[in-house]
Amino acid sequence: MKTLSPVAMIRKLVRFDTTSRESNLALIEFARDWLDGFGIKSELVFDATRRKANLFATIGPEDKPGILLSGHSDVVPVDGQDWHSEPFTAIEKDDRLYARGSSDMKSFIAVALALVPDFVAATLKTPIHLGITYDEEIGCLGVRPLIAALAKRQVKPRLCIIGEPTMMQPVIANKGKHSYACRVRGHESHSALAHVGVNAVETAAEIVAHLKAMARQRRKDGPFDADFTPPYSTIHVGTIQGGTALNIVPRDCRFEFEIRDLPGDDAGAVRAEIERFARGLLPEMRAVSGDTAIEFDELNVTPPLSTAPDAEIAQLAQALSGANATGKVSYTTEGGLYQQGGIPTVICGPGSIEQAHRPDEFIALDQVKQCEAFVQRLLERCAR
Ligand SMILES: [Zn+2]
Repeated sequence: MKTLSPVAMIRKLVRFDTTSRESNLALIEFARDWLDGFGIKSELVFDATRRKANLFATIGPEDKPGILLSGHSDVVPVDGQDWHSEPFTAIEKDDRLYARGSSDMKSFIAVALALVPDFVAATLKTPIHLGITYDEEIGCLGVRPLIAALAKRQVKPRLCIIGEPTMMQPVIANKGKHSYACRVRGHESHSALAHVGVNAVETAAEIVAHLKAMARQRRKDGPFDADFTPPYSTIHVGTIQGGTALNIVPRDCRFEFEIRDLPGDDAGAVRAEIERFARGLLPEMRAVSGDTAIEFDELNVTPPLSTAPDAEIAQLAQALSGANATGKVSYTTEGGLYQQGGIPTVICGPGSIEQAHRPDEFIALDQVKQCEAFVQRLLERCAR
């Protein structure tokens, strides 16, 4: 089997359009065949539609828990973005490789895959596991069945490194994300007879205003963790739809909001508080019409990641990267789910989050080199 350099592997992986709405199977099958070429068998964990799959593979002794290198295969859409080159073809310019997914996060996966021949040649004593997931960008959906599949194994990974873009600096914590929809059902009437209607838009606005007040309170009173930017949990309303015409008291309004919670903060308490507030609005609505309601739907819950700075995985990532500190980030990753699944996790990968999700996304070639050195050092440790 011929080998590929990390850069050649990045070029291969970005060719697959793995925008979250598309199937990721072409990429997964490529990775499976690549691993197979070096005698490594993969387990694929499919979603219900079988259009998507996670890949899990072990290089080295199967009967020992090892170190998992994990990355998501999906990328965010390029729709409406002003790209100066074809997003799914890597273009090299000024010591950078431009392509969708170059930074978030195919370069990490590419480095791990490109080094598979080295892993195989090294006769590892501690195994290195590879995990490639789907649908991270739309709520960390793919990693959930992967973690469930790993839980059923006799031997599961002992530690995990997720290669999200951190400029190869170990990140030990990230905020969680809890997202909800709120549906207000009012009662329609002619706007000249507003007193016999229940205005769903106005009720929604009161709830939105209360969320804003809760967000302000957290900003002012905490809890705080100065290692995060911003150093408090945030609450935000992202979309709202309601009403049909100005002269009709609107029957329906729906809005979506999210809580980005610090590790240790209680996102459940935020939800309980907003539901309590909403219940307080109901008597006035019901006095006009019995079919009015306020309902909350949970859209996605991804817990925060919080690994102690002196945990083995944090120390390992620091040693491998040569970094003298660890950081915390506000964006959500699969890390909290791995941690919840009993696998201590850190985030450390090439490229910058500033590049992620943007037009003309790129990876600096120096970052690819740093990542290669990081994985090589891991290999040396695992061969000891
Ligand atoms: Zn990512």
